[in-house]
Amino acid sequence: MKTYKRYLITSALPYANGPIHIGHLAGVYVPSDIYTRYLRLKGADVISVCGSDEHGVPITLKARNEGVSPQEVVDRYHKLNKKAFEDFGISFDIYSRTSNKIHHKTASDFFLKLYQQGEFIEKTSEQFYDEEAGCFLADRYIMGTCPHCGNERAYGDQCEKCGTSLSPMELVNPHSTVSGSKPVLRSTKHWYLPLDKYEPWLRQWILEEHKDWKTNVYGQCKSWLDQGLQPRAVSRDLDWGVPLPIENTEGKVLYVWFDAPIGYISATKELTPDWEKYWKDPDTKMVHFIGKDNIVFHCIIFPSMLKAEGSFILPDNVPANEFLNLEGDKISTSRNWAVWLHEYLEDFPGKQDALRYSLCATAPETKDNDFTWKEFQTRNNNELVAILGNFVNRTLVLTNNYYGGNVPSRGAITDADVEVLNEMKEIKANVETSIEAYRFREALKEAMNLARLGNKYLAEQEPWKVVKTDAERVKTIMNISLQITANLTIILEPFLPFSMEKLRGWLNIEKLTWNHAGGDILKDGHTVQKPGLLFEKIEDDAINAQIEKLNASKKANMSVTLEAAKDPISFDIFSTVDIRTATVLEAEKVPKTAKLLKLKIDTGLDVRTIVSRIAECYDPENLIGKQICIVANLEPRKIKGIESQGMILMAQDPKGGMKIVTPEEKVSNGSAVK
Ligand SMILES: [Zn+2]
Repeated sequence: MKTYKRYLITSALPYANGPIHIGHLAGVYVPSDIYTRYLRLKGADVISVCGSDEHGVPITLKARNEGVSPQEVVDRYHKLNKKAFEDFGISFDIYSRTSNKIHHKTASDFFLKLYQQGEFIEKTSEQFYDEEAGCFLADRYIMGTCPHCGNERAYGDQCEKCGTSLSPMELVNPHSTVSGSKPVLRSTKHWYLPLDKYEPWLRQWILEEHKDWKTNVYGQCKSWLDQGLQPRAVSRDLDWGVPLPIENTEGKVLYVWFDAPIGYISATKELTPDWEKYWKDPDTKMVHFIGKDNIVFHCIIFPSMLKAEGSFILPDNVPANEFLNLEGDKISTSRNWAVWLHEYLEDFPGKQDALRYSLCATAPETKDNDFTWKEFQTRNNNELVAILGNFVNRTLVLTNNYYGGNVPSRGAITDADVEVLNEMKEIKANVETSIEAYRFREALKEAMNLARLGNKYLAEQEPWKVVKTDAERVKTIMNISLQITANLTIILEPFLPFSMEKLRGWLNIEKLTWNHAGGDILKDGHTVQKPGLLFEKIEDDAINAQIEKLNASKKANMSVTLEAAKDPISFDIFSTVDIRTATVLEAEKVPKTAKLLKLKIDTGLDVRTIVSRIAECYDPENLIGKQICIVANLEPRKIKGIESQGMILMAQDPKGGMKIVTPEEKVSNGSAVK
């Protein structure tokens, strides 16, 4: 196997239109962080880069829906996600963003170089345009029936049911997901990267030279290649993104799939003036950490771009994970079926490692996997608390009780001692092998075996009993237990950085390198402190609260049934209803009722009283001065002894709740509503 001088670790750039959830963490960022921390412990020259992916249509759509600028959307989520990563100890050397100037310049130069080398094909084509929304439609925003498997919810770029890559033209019955309308074709000029040209090279590079890649990754690449690659547009019609750096291309930007991976290069440039050695020296090992939805971009498309450019290295490995589900259901932002990182920390402050542990232990490495709150609780209570926390606690408490916290010297060594010391070395080697093969679940299990080993050793040697008869022997037992404890701070550091920092504090030791693991660390007479709790038990109440939170999301997402449409009426009948604008002058609750408010209103024609059933939706003080619409010629009727002279128009949401119907801008009271 080739030995490398340095490492460049990239993690998928999260898209800046939403917060990060546990699926992202389990699939990409926890594994990438474990790998990076491990390499740092080994003293390797390693940098880990990431950042926000801030271009593309979904961001412009979100901005449009919220009535803010795209920049405001990306600023919000960049800040939120950057903080979430920091809070969870995801130790990127840089977390950049693609709206930065340095990225615009890097991406633009990259395009220009390929353009000048004649790598692109120029094509005018017909593309789907949404006339209602007034924009060309991204492939993702066209839905229709998959021509291969008949899935009616296939996207314009891919059918998620059968995994086939598609173009929007292949869809049967396409419709725009922006407006729901049927899109029309319009002609527009674009530049394409001829992926078909790279196909023979990709077949050789991946299928022959990278049989070591994970089977899910290798398999997906093979299936893409076997279907045959098509030229792919690198530009698109949009007003948000990196503008095309060539003349007469106003309103066109780089396609986000082209600009986003270049973000790794820009981030490295921003981090260090030495960036070229990480990107251009074949002695650098580049590893892309991604989720399975990104395999084609990182294994086929980005490598083709790098190959076309000519001066860059290619990834050595792309250890993509499958997806993490939540309580048996696919994680979904729109259905709020997720555990958001910033919310987790509000509910479980200081328990980052409990989540990191649970996510690594259930990581979807070879197939989709399921996160459940019950399993999270079990792993915390039965593994972190009962195995790791318990061993550390017993060792440090006994050392403090017997020796005032000073590490005792070892005396004669028994066979059992030798076995434990050897096993410690073996565990270190096994963790190494697993991490280097990107098998992080296995690595974590093996690392925890060191705590299991310690527990078993204490249980078998029973120093608390032996101390009454053979004080010398207990010194040896405690010395070995302390060496295991100190070894844990190295072996578990990549997985549980917060807790290992705590443990180093109790042991009075600095962060050690990986080479120190497997042998003795603490010198005789070294002083350790009294321990606190390494992990806390998580009670049923906390878990039930999370499950209830999810059930509430589920309920809120239940489809609503609308009232059936009413029978048609003539215009003459409609025009007999006198609807007018009015302003609320006074508002108060009707005593001894829950729903009724008594309002005094100015209709322009008169001042009158209306009783309305809106007390559950509006506080009286918030209504004063508000403009409303009323049915002015409804026969007066008595409600709770008060004569109500009309009715307020309300929009009643089928999910519950009522909202006052009000003119878009203030108009004179008494204006007729027609
Ligand atoms: Zn399909």
